[in-house]
Amino acid sequence: VERGAEGDRSSGAPSEATSASTRDEANTERVVRCTACGHTLARPRDVFSVNGASEHEFMNPSGMRFVVRCYSKAEGARESGESSSVWTWFPGYAWTALACGGCASHIGWSFRADERAFFALIVDRIVD
Ligand SMILES: [Zn+2]
Repeated sequence: VERGAEGDRSSGAPSEATSASTRDEANTERVVRCTACGHTLARPRDVFSVNGASEHEFMNPSGMRFVVRCYSKAEGARESGESSSVWTWFPGYAWTALACGGCASHIGWSFRADERAFFALIVDRIVD
């Protein structure tokens, strides 16, 4: 069971959401969120290198270009639909579309091969 939000910042200043100013605090664990709804999808510390790089750029069969960043876990995303090994970007891995667990937007793909798996999130659709 994970712990919830860290303690309140009850330092006296009552108002204003301080989202921007807290981002640089080294002790605050950052998360990767869906740009559409803000749902937490993954964590920056789970960035995963595949074939020597964590970011990859691809074109799909319709000519759409995607830049994806790979994570070893993406607990806030859910797999959607059938897996396929057709047009896989990573030979040996079958892909499944990933939807945001919050708003169901398409935010990337999982890639699985035997017991190995990683999650490629579209960088335009996530914010960390
Ligand atoms: Zn979302």
